[in-house]
Amino acid sequence: MPLAIETRNLTRTFPGASRAAISDVTLRVEEGERVLLTGPSGSGKSTLLNLIGGLDRADSGVLHVNGVDMMKMGEGLLARRRGGEIATVFQHHFLPTGLSAEEVVAAPLLWIHDLSPAEALREAREHLSLLGLSPEEHRRPVQNLSGGQRQRVAFARAIAPGPTILLADEPTAQLDDATAQLLLDQIFDWSAGEGRTLILASHHHLDSWRDGRILHMHDGRLREDVAVA
Ligand code: ADP
Ligand code: MG
Repeated sequence: MPLAIETRNLTRTFPGASRAAISDVTLRVEEGERVLLTGPSGSGKSTLLNLIGGLDRADSGVLHVNGVDMMKMGEGLLARRRGGEIATVFQHHFLPTGLSAEEVVAAPLLWIHDLSPAEALREAREHLSLLGLSPEEHRRPVQNLSGGQRQRVAFARAIAPGPTILLADEPTAQLDDATAQLLLDQIFDWSAGEGRTLILASHHHLDSWRDGRILHMHDGRLREDVAVA
């Protein structure tokens, strides 16, 4: 299998910090793999995901994503990859208020895939419907949706452009158990598609984690934990 993500000795120290947020992280994730990244708060999970997702830059080491050297990439190309082949979902959805759910999901399709507004809205509605939002909810301003619905809108926005890699950083942390499980199931279902790679960070060991690797971070260092067949 080709590698989706490869890091060697990846290190990031934030300005003024006394120690590295992540140090010497070496990781190989094959295309199609599903990886759970666990570890206590402050152990470096978000820092690592932000580097892989092109939201931040490492100080040293090697970082290849889908075979491309991210350390050498200019800001413009990084930004294009962020919305397109690498998608991210966070604990806190950063959805623009004032837009409807379908407009939020349609917006990246306009510039990533050059769709017309009508085509982008049609695709957005398809994604939202698959995730269980009703036509009335598609048109509702996102600030008037529940927390769980907003996370589903954020997830729809992330997957609508057709990324091959999804980085989910504590996506269920703000949700109650039932709503969290629903979103996790939808994320797992997405990741079962051909050639899709998922890294999901959580400070809990998820009981429902299945068919994937579990990696553990501690004090900025990575350790392979359990391999689940
Ligand atoms: P986790 O996601 O596992 O909770 P983080 O990657 O957020 O861990 O944080 C790792 C370390 O880096 C922590 O010590 C945190 O305080 C520090 N850190 C994270 N982001 C920043 C930042 N933007 N500036 C300075 N320090 C940061
Ligand atoms: Mg974090």
